[in-house]
Amino acid sequence: ANPQDEIGRLAATINALLARTEAAFGRQREALGRQRRFAADASHELRTPLTSIAGYARMLERWALKDPDAAREGAAAIRREAERMQHLVEELLALARGDEGRPLELGRADLAEVAEESAAAARAAAGDRVSVVWEPPEGPVEAVFDRERVRQALAALLDNAVRYTPEGGRVSVRALRRDGKAAVRVEDTGPGIPEEQLGMIFERFYRVDGTRSRRLGGAGLGLSIARQIAEAHGGAIEVRSVPGEGSSFTLLLPQEGPRKL
Ligand code: ADP
Repeated sequence: ANPQDEIGRLAATINALLARTEAAFGRQREALGRQRRFAADASHELRTPLTSIAGYARMLERWALKDPDAAREGAAAIRREAERMQHLVEELLALARGDEGRPLELGRADLAEVAEESAAAARAAAGDRVSVVWEPPEGPVEAVFDRERVRQALAALLDNAVRYTPEGGRVSVRALRRDGKAAVRVEDTGPGIPEEQLGMIFERFYRVDGTRSRRLGGAGLGLSIARQIAEAHGGAIEVRSVPGEGSSFTLLLPQEGPRKL
């Protein structure tokens, strides 16, 4: 063989190898960047309630004995902020479990039953501020899924619907079958989400309107958890929204469960 050709082939092989190594490094660098950003965002979210707790505790030290009203107010604020941290830590744990790829505990069940239970829990949380209405399907909506995780995904969707819908509004929940999938749809009469942001709301820590969402209490993790759960099942979450009218989130699960078992 011509030595010139062989050297040419060798050079091509080395170049291809280098390109592959570089691409692998690039992916690792990206993953590392994502992890760093996640840690920074999570720390920031935890610091906010901690700062409030420390502030109210200082106020209690100074005023609690002299002023019972200030004491009550301080204690209530500390409890509220601690609950917010609790919620956030639960969400971070749920995401970590998903990232570790913890196996699903699959079983065949009626998705409508789980949706109805979730609706009832949301109704209790909503009180009489917002009405939560369960629209029963004609028959069972059977599928193979992890009951606990799906309950968690539905809780995130319902929690948002109830939180973002103003007083006197309505949240409806129904189970349905579509294109061979089992689905739960949560609709609300809330403020809606601008179309250009619909692609971003599933990102970790993303909030549509920082001040509004912060006042209403979320860290921007609920939807990323819900999507992670849907995708672990081989499913998805669809969203439709008309600003000023409301939003509709549909959790879709393949009826036979995730294909790779
Ligand atoms: P959060 O904990 O802040 O609610 P999510 O990940 O659950 O975070 O939602 C991301 C953002 O999407 C929210 O901050 C909110 O701005 C918007 N959003 C989610 N659900 C709704 C809804 N039903 N109506 C209006 N806005 C919503």
